[in-house]
Amino acid sequence: MNSALTKEQVEFAIAFHGHECPGLTIGLRAAELCLRELGHNNDTPLTAVVETDMCGVDAIQALTGCTVGKGNLIQRDYGKMAFTFYRRSDGKGLRALLKPSARPMRPEAGELQRKINEGQGSPEDRTRLAELRAEAMRTLMELPLEEVFEIQPPATPIPRGPSILESLVCAGCGEMIMESRTRRLEGRTLCIPCFEKVDQKR
Ligand SMILES: [Zn+2]
Ligand SMILES: [Zn+2]
Repeated sequence: MNSALTKEQVEFAIAFHGHECPGLTIGLRAAELCLRELGHNNDTPLTAVVETDMCGVDAIQALTGCTVGKGNLIQRDYGKMAFTFYRRSDGKGLRALLKPSARPMRPEAGELQRKINEGQGSPEDRTRLAELRAEAMRTLMELPLEEVFEIQPPATPIPRGPSILESLVCAGCGEMIMESRTRRLEGRTLCIPCFEKVDQKR
């Protein structure tokens, strides 16, 4: 196995995510790259920007210390398998973009998945799909990181850290909202759901 992650790290990420899958494996390798090049958030503050909403994000959260809750994992769902990491102390950063050649699963897997989703998969189809997934995960773990990802400089500057903002009261529902998430409409301050309700009627 070429991955430098320990069995414990891999198992922790799988437990955190809830299952093993090729998507999570991509995230495992991205997390590994972050740890190798920049370290862990516990040792030096990091910020991650992920461009996907897929399984892999959970591996980043489990292994790098960048989490949605801490505000140092920012999700920009562009539907790309790309993960950017920044080290805040010296501004060093990198963007890891999954190489097309490392893309797991052959067209056959997509075909099988479709059949199974439509309720038409046979037991043989399920076995075959499980084999393909296992093979994809094995390959992803064995490849050197440089063959899994195109490793580039970050495409955008480091995002601003979470700032302390005022809480305001929505004129529609009366609930508290963070200042940066308010909308102004006809002189009133509204939360996003209330704004959208009013806006649809206009
Ligand atoms: Zn998954
Ligand atoms: Zn409201």
